[in-house]
Amino acid sequence: MTDSKRPLWTDIWKLSSDMVNCKECHAGQHQAHRELAFVHRPTCSSEGPGQYPYIELLEVLKMVHYADLPLPTETHPAWLPPKDGCAD
Ligand SMILES: [Zn+2]
Repeated sequence: MTDSKRPLWTDIWKLSSDMVNCKECHAGQHQAHRELAFVHRPTCSSEGPGQYPYIELLEVLKMVHYADLPLPTETHPAWLPPKDGCAD
């Protein structure tokens, strides 16, 4: 799988209470600027456009969250065909 070549979030980023930092170049981004693309130092090998570490982290957490949810059961009743049969 190609996904195995993709580094984990924690391999690239370091999270503190209100900052995220690149582990390589130590450039930082404040949480308040999470909607803006991250800017590495020019010499960093991770330098590139369109990096949003906070949003990526949120996506990772969402996947974990949904993976932990049990499958829906009684709270979602099965669909039944209409009794008057006019659809047929
Ligand atoms: Zn960097």
